[in-house]
Amino acid sequence: MKQEFIFIGPPGSGKGTQTKMLSEEYHLPHIDTGSLLREEIASGSQNGKIADSYMSKGQLVPINLVAEIIKNRLLKDDCKNGFILDGYPRSLEQAYALDEILKEIDNNTKVNLTVFYFEVDENKLIERLVNRRSCSVCGAIYNLKTMKLKDETKCEKCGGKLIRRDDDTEEVAKKRFATYFEQTAPLINLYKERGCLVTINASLDINTIYKNLTGAIKENVHS
Ligand code: AMP
Repeated sequence: MKQEFIFIGPPGSGKGTQTKMLSEEYHLPHIDTGSLLREEIASGSQNGKIADSYMSKGQLVPINLVAEIIKNRLLKDDCKNGFILDGYPRSLEQAYALDEILKEIDNNTKVNLTVFYFEVDENKLIERLVNRRSCSVCGAIYNLKTMKLKDETKCEKCGGKLIRRDDDTEEVAKKRFATYFEQTAPLINLYKERGCLVTINASLDINTIYKNLTGAIKENVHS
């Protein structure tokens, strides 16, 4: 059966770290709209320029632009056994757009869809974001406050340069939260009503969260 996972949670809730771990263990592609959009910006394309003008303000990029990127990605061969969506959908409008995309892509395939909601103490989030660094080469994510790196400029896995994302400043982070609570949080009820939501306590440590996450997948527990 095709396994489809969607991750919802506020910025800095740790979705990126967990989805990467899950992707490695389950051999499913990790599809992260934020990274796809940053790649689009780096390529200098027209879509990238449009995306940048929204991302730099902490706002959602227009629905059609993201839907096109996601659909093209989900049509790739590596998604035939399933995928892990991180950061999409982010609004009710996007959830309905995704329904249409999946109807077309999945056709008559049997699918098991699970939506994980990462619940976390909001006060911890800004601190997590401003201390977040990621490797410019392998994408590994670090937190300068909790991880105590020997060299705060170098990736411990591959030696790549650690960078801070342009939108991880306190000012833009606050706008991203406002966008999340206004537009993304309503998805929690939508997926709860559909019976496919699993709530994860994302204030715990990385390994415990991962254990709870994979435990829920094995037991197929939906709330
Ligand atoms: P992230 O890397 O998930 O924190 O996303 C960074 C930024 O990319 C967000 O603040 C949005 O501006 C944009 N973005 C990411 N995913 C989406 C999406 N599904 N819809 C619209 N904009 C998005």
